[in-house]
Amino acid sequence: MNGAGKDGEAAGSHPANVVLVGLPGAGKGTQAAQFARRHRVPKISTGDILRDAVARATPLGREVAATLQAGGLVPDDVIVRVVEERLAHPDTARGFVLDGFPRTVPQAVALDALLGGRPVAVIYLEISPDVILQRLLTRRTCESCGQADTGAHTSEYCASCGGSFVKRADDHIDVVRLRIAAYVENTQPLVDWYSQRPAFRTVNANQPLIDVARAFDAAVRECLGSS
Ligand code: AMP
Repeated sequence: MNGAGKDGEAAGSHPANVVLVGLPGAGKGTQAAQFARRHRVPKISTGDILRDAVARATPLGREVAATLQAGGLVPDDVIVRVVEERLAHPDTARGFVLDGFPRTVPQAVALDALLGGRPVAVIYLEISPDVILQRLLTRRTCESCGQADTGAHTSEYCASCGGSFVKRADDHIDVVRLRIAAYVENTQPLVDWYSQRPAFRTVNANQPLIDVARAFDAAVRECLGSS
């Protein structure tokens, strides 16, 4: 990784605690997966956790299935519990990258409480809304690692991990519109709220993936240096 510490940490002795926010389709999943590999920290995607729970029909999965299908947001208390349990795993000691959480201001307040003052870099992947629709409607997602393929679809299998590409059930036009509306209503205020912090950076997600990744790493280093 460009500029990572030798043990994979993004900024000196700080663990790389990272939150990624942005519209659905901004590239959070792809960037989070690559960042996690570069820095050897877990990628924690609340969408992946919920989809897995739905697929396995666990009590959580049964509770949230209809909401996911409709493109709405699951209740804050439910998702905060999920994240609290996941952050309690020892693999987060050296850091983590959160993809898809928080999505609302109350979730962000809850995350601050869970972190208890540990530094966190908040990275906003900014993208033009007109790029989003096309991207989501053509994207396929690796069912193993969450890597997205919005390009040439040259293979049925993910180049990163060999998993199969599948079309997400909520990547269909009506649901995509609702997901974008949910974002504008709930997550845009969250971006405004986070933007007051020193450890907040905006990354232009309209660039080629490699450039987004570079800007992402640089932004995390700046944030953790300034927190
Ligand atoms: P994603 O993969 O991040 O697009 O998430 C897929 C779906 O999971 C969303 O459309 C929501 O229904 C649900 N979800 C994921 N993360 C959250 C969250 N932080 N708060 C509420 N709902 C969420």
